[in-house]
Amino acid sequence: MEEKKCLACNALIRGRSDKRFCDDGCRSSYNNKLNSAPNSFVKRINHTLARNRRILGELLGDEKMLKVSREKLLARGLHFNCFTSQLSTTKGQVYFFVYEFGYLSLENDQFLLVRQSLSRGA
Ligand SMILES: [Zn+2]
Repeated sequence: MEEKKCLACNALIRGRSDKRFCDDGCRSSYNNKLNSAPNSFVKRINHTLARNRRILGELLGDEKMLKVSREKLLARGLHFNCFTSQLSTTKGQVYFFVYEFGYLSLENDQFLLVRQSLSRGA
């Protein structure tokens, strides 16, 4: 029979092979640690970034650039304060990037969505 160790305390587990903890105490202490504040913080930001990336990707589709209204981005649920990098052009424009997708604030509540390719500058 295969030996398994408790994920929380490393003690050997006897009995059913699908058990991951020796008891409920170990299960809850493991889950508490997993959901601790720093972990949740990172998870929440990762989640928001992933959603932002999906929203921008869906809107852009196969386009390289696309103009959309702020209203449309907000309706989709884009979080403007959650991005991975920013890029200033020589003209003083600031693009905010969520991984490969970027947005630039234009006049009249319009935004320019762009796709950054890895070969940029090559
Ligand atoms: Zn245990």
